Amino acid sequence: VKIKVLGSAAGGGLPQWNCSCANCAAARSGPNGRGVGVRPRTQTQVAVSIDDRIWTLLNCSPDLRAQIEATPELHSQSPNASRHSPITGAVLTSADIDCVLGLLHLREQQPLEIYSISRVREIIRDNSLFRMLEQKPEQSKWTVFEADGRFEIALNSANGGIACRALATGGDLPYYVERQSTSSNDGAVVGLILERKGTTNTKVAFLPGVREISDELLSELSQCDLLLMDGTFWSDDELIRIQGGGRTAREMGHIPVSGSDGSLERTRGLQRPKRVFIHMNNTNPMVNEQGPEYRQVRDAGWEIAADGMEFVI
Ligand SMILES: [Zn+2]
Repeated sequence: VKIKVLGSAAGGGLPQWNCSCANCAAARSGPNGRGVGVRPRTQTQVAVSIDDRIWTLLNCSPDLRAQIEATPELHSQSPNASRHSPITGAVLTSADIDCVLGLLHLREQQPLEIYSISRVREIIRDNSLFRMLEQKPEQSKWTVFEADGRFEIALNSANGGIACRALATGGDLPYYVERQSTSSNDGAVVGLILERKGTTNTKVAFLPGVREISDELLSELSQCDLLLMDGTFWSDDELIRIQGGGRTAREMGHIPVSGSDGSLERTRGLQRPKRVFIHMNNTNPMVNEQGPEYRQVRDAGWEIAADGMEFVI
């Protein structure tokens, strides 16, 4: 299984257009804006393949068009110059704008398999902009799964596909969705366990939004080969301190990295998986490679995802 990280920042990216915090300023500096100490990052986007020819996206970032162009494997490769894309599907883990807006980049009547829970499909279909994905019959083929359900990602019929399991990981419906009741938000955000069965089983966890790491989730993660974990915030009150108000990291559905019940501490006993933080908010101090938080995370055996990273497992 090949996993490409096309984007690794949380919503807004790094730098964020209206932010001049130390991270954003450092990311804007240096030759050609390549950043000093802080690498610029686009909004989180992952692509998965088993044969390098057919790719499924995990979410659809607002930066998707540029991310595709920055990734030769995802370029159109039709021999007769007609319309073609190696991207055949997208799995959506929530209805957040940074998870779904990129669908509009894929609107040129190109067939697409879309996988999501039914509430996310409903939210997208209720929005008239997204009717661009249904300009002709069979343009979008939707597979609906339960928040704790299983489905198969169809990648290549000759080589089989990837088995996928969803896990409800906390988190609410986005602001733009009219809320009917709090209970209807259950399972609004999911994580994914991707499994490729072969001579050896390969398991990948993609968890860009996790409120808590329960013992059950921890045991699940201990059997994975690669863990792409919520690295949004370093501390629970990070945004409140910077914005002067608002919600805590946990209230937004993100376990902080630091602290006695943060993700770093909770995963300390994990042996098997390669551990990589993804979906870093521009306020997270661990993206500064010259800072103590970066050192702490690296010393604990974690990597911090950057755009263009690739994992073959
Ligand atoms: Zn900033």
